[in-house]
Amino acid sequence: MSDTIFAKIIRREIPADIVYEDDDVLGFRDLNPQAPVHVLFIPKQPIASLDAADAGQAELLGKLLLAAAAYAREQGLAERGYRAVINCNEDGGQTVYHLHVHLLAGRRMQWPPG
Ligand code: 5GP
Repeated sequence: MSDTIFAKIIRREIPADIVYEDDDVLGFRDLNPQAPVHVLFIPKQPIASLDAADAGQAELLGKLLLAAAAYAREQGLAERGYRAVINCNEDGGQTVYHLHVHLLAGRRMQWPPG
């Protein structure tokens, strides 16, 4: 896959407000937050989209979700709740083609999403 802005964030070539990091996953605040808390969790290994993920990446995908959940718990967001979103491809609203989980919290979410 081609290089993305998120690959540059992983390599620290452009700044980001990084709030979570482990061996496999990076979490940083979204530049254009849609809720009081809006953090993006990305695998350090580039995967273009959820559609591009394969069974060999199942463990990594699990780690990505668990990292978002652990962060939410640590930040005291879990009891009230939050939303974890993966936009996939054009109709899903994906704009950056490096798989990411949006963690949105700090306000009541609406359903259906826009
Ligand atoms: P998508 O639309 O692909 O699901 O989400 C991409 C997200 O990345 C958007 O919410 C957008 O605000 C965020 N974003 C795009 N460029 C940057 C950037 O350079 N830094 C940060 N922190 N977020 C970005």
